Amino acid sequence: VIRCRAAVAWAAGKPLSVEEVEVAPPKAGEVRIKIVATGICRTDDHVLEGYFPNVDFPVIPGHEGAGIVESVGEGVTSVKPGDKVIPLCLPQCGECSFCLNPESSYCMKSHVSEPQNLLPDKTSRFTCKGKQIHHFLWVSSFAEYTVIPEYAVAKIDSAAPLDKVCLLGCGFPTGYGAAINTAKVKPGSTCAIFGLGGVGLSVVMGCKAAGASRIIAVDINSNKFAKAKELGATDCVNPKDFKKPIQEVLIEMTGHGVDYSFEVIGHVDTVIAALASCNMNTGVCVMIGVPASGSVISVDPMLLLTGRTWKATLLGGWKMRDCIPKLVSSYLEKKFNSDLLITHTLPITKVNEGFELLRAGK
Ligand code: NAD
Ligand code: ZN
Repeated sequence: VIRCRAAVAWAAGKPLSVEEVEVAPPKAGEVRIKIVATGICRTDDHVLEGYFPNVDFPVIPGHEGAGIVESVGEGVTSVKPGDKVIPLCLPQCGECSFCLNPESSYCMKSHVSEPQNLLPDKTSRFTCKGKQIHHFLWVSSFAEYTVIPEYAVAKIDSAAPLDKVCLLGCGFPTGYGAAINTAKVKPGSTCAIFGLGGVGLSVVMGCKAAGASRIIAVDINSNKFAKAKELGATDCVNPKDFKKPIQEVLIEMTGHGVDYSFEVIGHVDTVIAALASCNMNTGVCVMIGVPASGSVISVDPMLLLTGRTWKATLLGGWKMRDCIPKLVSSYLEKKFNSDLLITHTLPITKVNEGFELLRAGK
């Protein structure tokens, strides 16, 4: 058993509390990882708000981490102590019908099918003050050590800087992949991205890499525009500067609407605005933001009848165990610069300050 620090969410609506926790050794098929760095994603904040009824408290959140294998359980062959790894919040079991389908990226072992609050044997490896603490998406990267099934661990290049490539655990592949894999943005096309957090800015990078000629960045916080431009946005629009709905503004700017629109906020109204912003025939709208569970989106069927395509993505459509190591290699080859997404670096003791910065749009 390892004793270390972890940021524990004891109940919804409360700040995280940095505690000493016990992390049990990995059982068969599991890997214990020393987490070196983690990003903060809005999805972690949704957990703290109690957005997801199928996430059990107390829980150690965090799902965008990178670390080093500390020990492995019986039968683990793909990693060994000392290997650098990224834990995967979307596993790839390699055996379910979706994993066997080359077109699919969703694994049936993921949280949406079967909650990942406990490890596959239905027990937790975390305790604190005598209480069992739940895992989050099996990753729980807000702990200094965590235990994860082997099929949710991706071994990466030993040269990778873990304090940078942790972003390749969620935010960057989600946004970049939404443009490249889910929308399949074509060269010369027009794109609109609603929401310029870590994920939305990664969509901007994906659209640019795919050769889009016009990339319109939309946010109610104009402080986000400088970074969006640096990453490839050609136009920046703040809906607060207009009286009319933002979809009308975008249609006027582009003639008939953009070729590809992306919602990266997680609000029902902006999902509809993004859908209406892409052109009525060949337009493709991708939903990435996670609206509160139980929310319902009602749309005018005419929006779809004329031919628009409405899609969504989890983690950007990558087969995670196969693709994340390749993305890390592309990062090392400088094919993209996800370091530009990093705004602040804090020690674990300041994790709540990290969330304050996220909520303040900084
Ligand atoms: P973030 O909070 O950093 O960014 C959201 C941005 O949206 C902010 O810049 C904010 O100013 C802007 N915004 C808020 N309301 C707006 C409005 N009405 N119009 C325009 N802009 C508005 O969040 P993030 O970490 O980038 O995550 C974005 C969303 O993506 C979240 O809902 C998160 O849960 C979700 N997410 C989904 C996946 C997935 O696999 N689908 C993965 C990661 C994150
Ligand atoms: Zn995330």
